[in-house]
Parts: sequence; C-alpha cells; structure tokens
Amino acid sequence: MVYRDKENNISLKEINKKNILKIVIDMGPISRIGISRELKISRPTTSAYIAELIEDGLIEEIGKSDSTSAGGKKAVLLQFNNRAGYILGAMIGVRNIRVALTDLGSNIIEIVKFPTEEWLGPDAVINKLVSGLKGVIKKSRIDKEKIIGIGIGATGIIDSKEGLVIFSPNLSGWENIRLKKIIEEKIGIPTFIENECRVQAIAEKNFGLARDVRDFVCVETGTGIGTGVFVDNKLLVGNKGMAGEVGHLITNLAGNRVCHCGNVGCLETLCSITSLLEDIENDIKKSGKSSDYNKGGLELEDLFALYSDGDEIVTRNVDNNAEYLGIGISNTIKMFSPELVIIHGEVIKFGERYLSKVKESVSKNTFPKVKSDYDIRFSELGENVGIIGATTIVFDNVFDLESSNIAGHYIIKKKLSRI
Ligand SMILES: [Zn+2]
Repeated sequence: MVYRDKENNISLKEINKKNILKIVIDMGPISRIGISRELKISRPTTSAYIAELIEDGLIEEIGKSDSTSAGGKKAVLLQFNNRAGYILGAMIGVRNIRVALTDLGSNIIEIVKFPTEEWLGPDAVINKLVSGLKGVIKKSRIDKEKIIGIGIGATGIIDSKEGLVIFSPNLSGWENIRLKKIIEEKIGIPTFIENECRVQAIAEKNFGLARDVRDFVCVETGTGIGTGVFVDNKLLVGNKGMAGEVGHLITNLAGNRVCHCGNVGCLETLCSITSLLEDIENDIKKSGKSSDYNKGGLELEDLFALYSDGDEIVTRNVDNNAEYLGIGISNTIKMFSPELVIIHGEVIKFGERYLSKVKESVSKNTFPKVKSDYDIRFSELGENVGIIGATTIVFDNVFDLESSNIAGHYIIKKKLSRI
C-alpha cells in the first residue's frame, strides 16, 4: 500500500532503472542478460543502467551462475543489496510493543519487546515507543542516516494517508492521535502507520502463505478481533480505514457484554481472549473447583496445556471460542469470498484441534449446500509478523516500484549517496 502525495514526471531512463530494480528484487539472483530479456531493452543499455544501480549501492554482484550463456561464458549474477539501507518497524499491541531494526528485506537485526501498559494513556505509550525506537537505533550502532523510514502497525481504526489513529477501542484514550507527525517530529525519520491486521496481511502477501493468493483474509484474534483483507491483489482500506473491523460486527443480539467500542453484542464480546478468560473463570467458580486451578487470575498461557490435557471446563470454552471465531470467519467469507483465510494471534498455540473446530463451524455456517473453495490455515510467520509487515510498508512507500512515480527512487538515491 503506497500513500502518494502526487504523481511526478519520470524519464524513460528512470522508469527502466526502477524496472531493473523490480526484476532483481522479484527474480534475483539474475544475470544482466536475463534482465535485458525481461525488460526487452538492449544489453549495453541494460548494463549501463545496472552500473549506475551498483554505484548507488542498490544492486550487488554475487558470483557466477552454474549454467553458461549462449556464448559459453558463465554469467555474473546480480541481487538486490538488502543492506543498502535500514528500516525501523514497530507494533503497538494491547499487551506489548515490539520495536525492531531490519534491513531492506525486512530481516530483523535488532528487536526489543516491552509491555504497552495501555492504561497509562497515549502520551506515555508514545514516549515508550519513542524510547524504544531510539534504543534500537543506538543498540544497532547503525547510522541514523541509513534508516529510510519507520513503519508502525497499531491496533485500532487508522487513517494511513493522514497518519492518524482515529480510534483504538482497546488502547485507553487513543482518539484522533496524529501518530505519524508526532513520531516524525520526535525521531526525524519519515514515518508510515497502518492498522495491525492490515500490516499482518501485507506480511503474508510478501513473505507468507498468501504470496501467490489474490483474495485472502487475515484474522487476528487477541484482546480484540480484526481482519486484513486483500481483494484481487489489493489491500482493502476503505474510506476512513474502517474496512475489516469484523470484531465489531453485531453478532450476539441477546448479549449484554459491552464492547470496548461502546456497542453491545459485538463478535469480540463473544470470542476475544478477554471474553474467553472471563467465561472460563465464571465456569470454574460455578463448578466449585477453584482450588483445582490454584489461583484466581487465569492467564491465556495457562490454557494451552489445560486444553491439550482435555480439561473439561477449558476444553468446552475453547471449543466454543473456536465456534464463535468460525462464525466471524464465515461472515468474512460471505463478504469477501477469499481463497484463503489465515489465522493470527496466540490462539494458534491451541493447535490442530482448535483449527479443526474453527473449520467445522465455518463450514456449518457458510452455505452448507455449496462445496467450499476456501482454505483456513494458521499463519507460519511467527510472532514478529507485524514487524515484517510494518517494515514492508516503508520499503513499498520509499521505493514505490509499482508506479511510474520518480520520488521513491530519488529519495533512496539521495539518502544512500550520503552513506
Ligand atoms: Zn465492538
């Protein structure tokens, strides 16, 4: 997703150089001849542009190919130089903030994680984030000038174009926070922000299960529930960034739990992790077996073993949670008709039984008479998926390889010429 201010004119040469970069990133390692064939421009011209890109530090030679070209010589292979620059990524979750420094390929070099303590309010949380970002820069010993941007994923309704957190139901006091502007002022590096679930979807599209999938939905389940949606290869954002707020679809008309968003009966009130823990604790109290669970404040981490051991109360409630999540996923399938649904969040640790319960519920609730043509899987990108997505947003915006906009290439060239 690229947030562009305006189109600029670009020369044919710059277009070709951007196309070479794109080919090297998508298809590399690749030879000069291979690039020339892909681009359909002459070999000398291709070589001249490649020489400039090598001088800029964006492309590097990495030895020779095993096979020979028509002339019998082994061709020198080229690849994108991921260490030509660096990116800062951050994820503001309800429980934790993660801050990392990656190379241009979103490979993590330094990472720190600390509690959000969201109840302290936006000023305190932003100060923590800023210290985290500064700390990671310092620890990495990388010159700040080499950092091309900061990408931040945050929970809530986010207007990425404006760099604004409109409202975050699960972070106290986050209403109309100009996060992009604040971070740019405090750190002095161009900053891009996006909703947590969309950031995860971007990571799946670039590095995960959705690389070759045009229509897919990522479902995050945690303190809240949200989705990141790609339709026909494009990230769905909507007018004010509200698209995909599945957790706040009114699902339980008979419910009386008030959601953090202010409504009653949202999907989140049925099957967020907070509701799951509350339901289990109520059932434990009712059963009179509190002593078996040895403490009042049950944590999510306690549930994984209890579920795999078949504890009656935990199993019943977690299975119910899977069924509710299945209803939510079924609703998103009816809205977006995805080929793939990817589940994110700590519920993955409940394992295959949980996934099969979700699938059962989805198939029961989604046109039972129509043969299903979607797949539902757990994400394989691990707990740093958000960081991977957030840094990808920076790369996409700065390099802007999909458009004929010159800005991206000049920004990176100008930055890198100082290195
Ligand atoms: Zn709600």
